[in-house]
This record gives sequence, C-alpha cells and structure tokens, in this order.
Amino acid sequence: MLKRYSITFWATVFVSVVCLSLVGIDVWRSINARSGQLQEMERLGANVARAMAQQADDTIKAADTALADVVERIETEGQSEAALARVQKQMAAQVANLPQLVGLFVYDERGRWIVNSRAVLSQAYNNSDREYFIYHRLHQDRGPHVGDPVISRSTGKWIMPVSRRLNKPDGSFGGVVLATLDIEYFRRFYQSFDVGARGAVTLVSNSGVLMLRQPYDSERVGGSMRESELFRHYLKQGGSGRIGSAFFPSFHDGEVRLNSFRPLEHYPLFVTAALSREEMLERWRRDTFTRMLGVLVLAALIGFFGKRLVGQIKLREQAEAELRKARDALESANRTLERQAMQDGLTGLANRRQFDVTLGNEFSRAMRHEDTLAFIMIDVDYFKQYNDVYGHSAGDEVLRSVSKLIRALTPKRPGDLSARYGGEEIGILLPNTDINGAQAVAERIRRAVENLQLPHRGSTFGHVTLSAGVATISPQRGIHLASMLVEAADKALYVAKSEGRNRVCLAEP
Ligand code: GH3
Ligand code: MG
Ligand code: MG
Repeated sequence: MLKRYSITFWATVFVSVVCLSLVGIDVWRSINARSGQLQEMERLGANVARAMAQQADDTIKAADTALADVVERIETEGQSEAALARVQKQMAAQVANLPQLVGLFVYDERGRWIVNSRAVLSQAYNNSDREYFIYHRLHQDRGPHVGDPVISRSTGKWIMPVSRRLNKPDGSFGGVVLATLDIEYFRRFYQSFDVGARGAVTLVSNSGVLMLRQPYDSERVGGSMRESELFRHYLKQGGSGRIGSAFFPSFHDGEVRLNSFRPLEHYPLFVTAALSREEMLERWRRDTFTRMLGVLVLAALIGFFGKRLVGQIKLREQAEAELRKARDALESANRTLERQAMQDGLTGLANRRQFDVTLGNEFSRAMRHEDTLAFIMIDVDYFKQYNDVYGHSAGDEVLRSVSKLIRALTPKRPGDLSARYGGEEIGILLPNTDINGAQAVAERIRRAVENLQLPHRGSTFGHVTLSAGVATISPQRGIHLASMLVEAADKALYVAKSEGRNRVCLAEP
C-alpha cells in the first residue's frame, strides 16, 4: 500500500489532512462554542425570569395582605363612621408603607366609594363599570382578583388592580376592596435587569393581557397578547405552574429571542425574560469569524508551502529518475565498450587481448588442478590468394563464415574460448580436454568448412579449406609457460601446412 503510491502522493495526502483537520477542528470548536453560548443564554434568561416572578409575587402579596386586612376589619367592625375612620387611617398607613401601592379603596355594592386611603372622600368617581367590580359582584369566591391594567381615574397612571370581594353580614355582595399597584414600580425593577440591548421582559396575565413590557411602551400596556406566539407557547407549556423556554420572533418587534417563562407562585400572572438570539450570538460570530479567518490563512499557508514542498519532492524524484536513467545508459554503454574491448569486430570472436588473459587464467587453473589444457590453432589455406582473386571484403566475408561455424561447433563449457589470434588465424582454448577431444573438435571444424564448399580458384582444392594444429599441456610449475602451448600448436599447424593443407595435425607429445 505504502509502496504503491509515490512519496509525492503521501505528501499531498499529509498536507491535505493537516489543512482539513485544522479547519475541521475549528468548525467543531465553533459549533461547541455556539451551543455553549446558547446554554449560557438560557441560564441567564431563566435566572432573570425567576427573580422577576419572585419580585412580582412578593409585590402583589404585600398589597393583597393589606386588602385582606381591610376586608376583615370592615366585615367584623361594620361600616360605622368611627369604624371607617379607623380603617381609613390603617389604609393610609399601608399606602404610605408600601411603595408599590397607589391606593386602597372600598366600594359599596353600587360602586360608590365608602372609604379610601386618601384623606378626601370624593364621590366623583363610580367604579361599578370596572371589570374587577363586575367580577366580584358575579363571583362568590373570597380570594384576590388581579384585574387587567387600567389607567387610574384618579391619577391617570397605569395601575394594576388587585381586589377582594366584600360581603354583607348575610353573605350577599357588599362591595369591593381594591388595591391599585403602580405599574411604574414594576418597571423600575425590571429596568435593573441586564437582558442586553435587544432583550425584553414582560409581565402578562394568564388571560393574555400585557401588564408591562420593558422596553416600555405605554401604548401596549393592557393590550391583548392572546394571539401572540409568546402566549401560545406559554399555554403549550401547560400555563401556570410550568417554567420553560423557547425561541420565537417577538409579537412586538419581530426580533427572535429566547423567551424564558415563569409563572407567579400565587397570582394568575407570568413573566418572560427574552434575550435576543442575534445579540447573544454576535460575540460568538465575531470570535468565530476572526478565528476562522486565522485558521484559513494558516491552512492556506500550509497548503501553499506544502504544495511547493511536494513540487520540490517531485522535482527531486524526477531528477533522481533521470540520474538513474543516465546511470543505466552509462552502465550499458560501459558494458558494450567492455565487450567491444574484448571482442573482435569482424568475426565477433574474442580478440587477442581476451585470448591472452584467458590463456593465462586457464593455464594457472590447469596447473593448480593438474588438468590438461588443449589448444587448436586454425589457419585458412591459401588465403592470400583468396584476397588476390576475390578481393579483401570477400576475404573478410570468408573469415566471418568460418568464425560462425567455429562458434557453432566448439563446446560451450566455461573456460572454452574461440579467439581471433591473428589475421586469418583462429585459436580455440579448451580447458580440461585431452588431445583426442581437441583433435575431434578441430576435425569437426575442418570438415564443416570443407563441406561449405566456398569456391576458391586460387586453392588446389578449388574451395576454401583450413588447416589446424592441436596441442595439449598438463602444466607444471617451474617447467611450463603458457606460450609453450601456443608454440606447440603453431608447430603442428606448420606441419599440417607442409603436409599439404586441409588437415589437422597433432603436436609432438
Ligand atoms: P597458407 O596456405 O600457407 O596459409 O597460405 P596463405 O596465403 O594463407 O598465407 P598466410 O597464412 O601467411 O596468409 C596471410 C594472409 O591473410 C595475408 C593477408 O592477405 C590475409 N589476411 C590477413 N588478415 C586478413 C583479414 O583480416 N582480411 C582479409 N581479407 N585478409 C587477411
Ligand atoms: Mg596465416
Ligand atoms: Mg593461411
């Protein structure tokens, strides 16, 4: 596997993997950071909602306790002037005591003021048309009732009415005790929360009426939120008693926020703390962008230099391959030269140089092994005449043909060697061969040449023939020299010539 692909392939893979890992790790980190940021946002929203709900609950509870007191006193002490004066004093004290409380009011069954927390008892206003008044007239329950926010007829400010029913001694409807809570009081508290520049908090009744929203818009107070996503989500989450959060676009400004819901513990209201997703993710986005940019630049640099490196490796590989090729060509040229240096160009046989080297080697070997070394000296008959009659190139051609025959007919054992000894003289070295073996080889060659029947007008035979002298030696150190073998063969050849040519003669033993 490793070897099947080149180093440049692996280098490319390596650089690519490094670049991709860099980017991949950063993407992974960014995704984690984003979900971390959103978790943080959810926790922050939930905390704000809890604090808001607690505060609203406490604020209303304090006013409600005052209400319950007044109801108790009027129902037990009656409505005599003295009793009412005492109640009035108590009411005034409560209002002075509780900053959220705008006023405490007692109405009779027709909606007229019986007593209130203010010093002056005006009859100018009749509140029998108010929602809370109608509610208590129609409902027997003695618990607190939180009404929809209204603009106070006495102060012109937005107030939250919290009321309880007043019974006559016979249990019939005797009027309403009302506490008005300053919406502004809640607002001041909500302002203290940091929900970001684009966050919002709301206080909503369970019936879907907006009590307060921060950022504040007095136009929206008292408006219905029944159709809003926020209210639907609140209902979906089970209405009161449940806390939770969800992302959705705002009913008021369309901003997508994470809304954390929380119902009040004792009153039919809930709060939401909503944090803008865009705003919360903005820092994450900025961080991610800068990091990504850095990582991409880094990856690009690694990629760039990696590519150059791979290019360098490729170049080096190419250079190495070229070097290898050049070296191979040189080696083959060397081999050719070497062969040429040892070979005879015309006949393809070994040349005299190689013959001398081989003769020396084989002579020594035969001496060591106490072997017989045979040598055949061959000479073409009447060759001078052949050249004269047919021309020198034709003579060359005859030498080639004879050499081819000799190559075909000499044994191919290691150490056997046919060489062009001189002009038209060919020597055949046959190690480990006795005189009879050598003679047989010489005779085979002579006959083969004769059988070729190459025409030769200048010869007494009429065709090309050759003569051979054969000699053997069992070399002994200190007595024999390699040249003696050649001289003996030469002498035998001379005998062959003088005895009439076209024959093989053996040297004297
Ligand atoms: P002999 O029968 O006694 O051998 O007579 P010969 O004419 O062959 O005499 P010798 O062996 O002395 O002949 C040598 C001649 O061989 C001389 C030269 O003309 C010829 N010769 C030598 N080398 C070459 C060669 O390479 N090519 C050709 N064409 N002729 C060569
Ligand atoms: Mg000769
Ligand atoms: Mg000759």
